[in-house]
Amino acid sequence: MKVCKFGGTSMATAESIRQVAEIVRSDPDRRFVVVSAPGKRSKSDVKVTDLLYEAYRAASAGKSSADALQVVRTRFDDIVRDLGLELNLSPYFEEIRAEIDGGAGVDYCASRGEYLSAVVTAAYLGYEFIDAVEIVKFFDDGRFDSEYTNDIASARLARSEGAVIPGFYGQINGSGVKTFSRGGSDVSGAIVARAVKASVYENWTDVNGFLMCDPRIVENPKYIGTLTYKELRELSYMGATVLHPDSIFPVRNEGIPINIRNTFDPTHPGTMIIPSEQRSASRYPITGVVGMKNFAAIHIEKSMMNSELGFIRKALTVLEHYNVSVEHIPSGIDTLTLVVNGEQFSGDLAKRVVGELKSILATGNVYLEEDIALIATVGHGMAARKGTAATLFGALSRAEINIVMIDQGSSEMNIIVAVRNDDYEKAINAIYRAFVN
Ligand code: ASP
Repeated sequence: MKVCKFGGTSMATAESIRQVAEIVRSDPDRRFVVVSAPGKRSKSDVKVTDLLYEAYRAASAGKSSADALQVVRTRFDDIVRDLGLELNLSPYFEEIRAEIDGGAGVDYCASRGEYLSAVVTAAYLGYEFIDAVEIVKFFDDGRFDSEYTNDIASARLARSEGAVIPGFYGQINGSGVKTFSRGGSDVSGAIVARAVKASVYENWTDVNGFLMCDPRIVENPKYIGTLTYKELRELSYMGATVLHPDSIFPVRNEGIPINIRNTFDPTHPGTMIIPSEQRSASRYPITGVVGMKNFAAIHIEKSMMNSELGFIRKALTVLEHYNVSVEHIPSGIDTLTLVVNGEQFSGDLAKRVVGELKSILATGNVYLEEDIALIATVGHGMAARKGTAATLFGALSRAEINIVMIDQGSSEMNIIVAVRNDDYEKAINAIYRAFVN
């Protein structure tokens, strides 16, 4: 049995929903369908979820939510009409309007795009509609209740031949609606896949899967055919955004693979995300090169640092005190570098932190280096091969790029280098070209 989740672009128009239905009907194993709210139809369009947040803002500022809701209504009316469906949405919108004007919360409001999207898709497919509040549950404190959800979702879905379920939200406090963070329908799809013990979780989107690099930086990068859950973690941490990072948790322990597919190019096999044990040797030693700009490095130097007890702890306590999270901690014998997010760490805060580090660590040698970029070269195949680091550093040296810092995770699956922001694009190209030709 397969679970398919369709994203916002797949749900954006009647035409794309027809395409969704064709995909679902082409394989009898595709029995459970999770949908997002209609997304953008063009670059300048607005997602239904954003319109709903707007409606909520209007209502909570004491204004009428009518205008924003009317835009949502028109979008769904167009879809229903163009699909040729006999479905009257008036009662749904009357209820939503009454709830919002009666003080319903922001999550209820935001979730209505997925709700209506699932009602329409279920009607078009002739599948049962199962509301997410029935099967996805949160603890009262807002955390997702994975085990209770799995118990009731398995029981409920076992009684269904085929169903469409709205993504993005579930139930809290017995009757309220709570959403996951943005893009959370990916998580809902994974929850349903776990509950029905799917053979695969198909995540249908508008791209052919993960690319080895950002196509805005590298021309025509190759697609990643197979990826492990661990590699996915590393790649999404550094900005690969195809899938919500929390989607792996429900399926990983069950060993259910995630297959990223393209609704608009359904014959493309996409990217398969699988457990490490199932990964066979890959063609390239690396899986992807990703990165982000605008980090800052706090360099600390003190002789005999290596023998001073609690030195790193003291340094970290200062950052904790100022609520600054540390991304990486490369260290040498007498040196320690704390890499932090530069956008949240500048001006006055940076000055105060550097000052306090100097006094607590009793060293004058603390200085800040700003405008650096981190580049992660990720690859499951890296650990077993010789020469990966040599290729990487050779490529950077030939491109005349200075490496500010090097960090390799203990899993040997990831080499992180820091370069100046200005060298970022050049460095990613140099690394990619050195491994893929
Ligand atoms: N519609 C929601 C959002 O725009 C959730 C989703 O599409 O996954 O974030």
